[in-house]
Amino acid sequence: EFRALVVDKVGEDTSVEVKKLSFDDLPEGDVTIRVAYSSVNYKDGLASIPNGNIVKSYPFVPGIDLAGTVTSSSDSRYTEGQEVIVTSYDLGVAHFGGYSEYARVPGDWVVPLPEGLTLKEAMAFGTAGFTAALSIHRLEENGVTPEGGAVLVTGATGGVGSLAVAMLSKRGYHVVASTGKESEHDYLYSLGAKEIIHRDELTPEKVRPLDKPRWQAAVDAVGGKSLAYVLSTIKPQGAVAVSGLTGGVQLPTTVFPFILRGVSLLGIDSVFCPMEIRKPLWSRLGSDLKPDLLLDEIGQEVTLEELPQTLAKILKAEVRGRTIVKL
Ligand code: NAP
Repeated sequence: EFRALVVDKVGEDTSVEVKKLSFDDLPEGDVTIRVAYSSVNYKDGLASIPNGNIVKSYPFVPGIDLAGTVTSSSDSRYTEGQEVIVTSYDLGVAHFGGYSEYARVPGDWVVPLPEGLTLKEAMAFGTAGFTAALSIHRLEENGVTPEGGAVLVTGATGGVGSLAVAMLSKRGYHVVASTGKESEHDYLYSLGAKEIIHRDELTPEKVRPLDKPRWQAAVDAVGGKSLAYVLSTIKPQGAVAVSGLTGGVQLPTTVFPFILRGVSLLGIDSVFCPMEIRKPLWSRLGSDLKPDLLLDEIGQEVTLEELPQTLAKILKAEVRGRTIVKL
C-alpha cells in the first residue's frame, strides 16, 4: 500500500483527500516509478474541482508532472534504479498522475533525468518550466535574439511566467515583466526582470489594430484581451509565443500585426511536443536555461497533506512561482 491524493465525485461536488492505494489501483503501463516529487500547475487546480473539465473519470489521482526512480520496467529502454521525469500526454488528466508515491506509465512518456538536474529541480521546472523553455526555443527559432530588444513576459509571477523571466534573463535578454501583484516586484527583479509593468497596462479600454511598437517579442501565458494588445505593440518581424488562457480564451485581434508588421503568433503545446524536441529541451533546462535561483526563490515545497490548499490557491492566481510536491 502507498499514499496518494485522490479526487472523487461527491454528488455535484468533489472531495480531495490523501488515501491509501494498492498497486492494483494503478493504471496499465510499462514503467513503474517510485515518485520523489511532483508539482502544482494551473491544470492540477482544475483537476481538483467539479467543473474543471480536466478529469474524465473518478476516483482520480491528479498531478501532470512527476520525477522519480524506476522500480520495475518491461520497456528495455529503462532499468530499475534509473531516475526519470514524466510530464504531458495523458498524465494527471486521463491517467493517474504524480500525486502518488507510486505511478505506472507507458514507456513512451518517459524522459531520462538529464545531466545537471536533480529530481527536485526537475519538478521546480515541471510542465510550467518546460513550457517556458519551449516558448523561448520557438521565439529564437523565429529570429528573436538578446540584441533585438525587450521581451515581454505576461503573468510574470506565475509558474510559466516566473521561469520565462528567469530563463530569458539568464540568456541575456532585457526582460519586461507584466504582473498584477504589486507586492512581488522585488521577486521579479531578483529573477532578472529589468522593467515591471502592471498587467492593466495591457488591457486598455480600446485596443488599436496597430499601436506604437514596444517589444521585440513576448512569452504569453495569459491570452485574451491582453494578447490582442501585445500583438498590436510587437515590433516589425517580432513574435509572440502563446501558451495559456488565464486572461481568457477569446482573442479580439485583427490581421494587421501579421500582414503589416510580419509579426508571428507561435502556438505552444507542451503536451504533444515530440520527443525529438522534448529531450534536448530538458537537457537545456539542466544547462544553459537553468536559472540560478531555481530552488532558492522560484520553487517552494509542500507535502501531500498541504497540497489541497495550494490547489485552491493556484485557481485564484495567488501562487507565486512554482510549488514542488514532496512524496
Ligand atoms: P499560474 O502559476 O497560475 O500563473 C498564471 C499567472 O497569470 C498568475 O500568476 C497571474 O500572474 C496571471 N493572471 C492570473 N489571472 C489573470 C487575469 N485574470 N488576467 C491576466 N493575468 C492573470 O499558472 P501556470 O501554471 O503558470 O499556467 C499559466 C497558463 O498557461 C495557464 O492557462 C495554463 O493552463 C497554461 N499552460 C499551458 C501549457 C501549454 O502546453 N500550452 C503548459 C503549461 C501551462 P500576475 O499576477 O503576475 O499577473
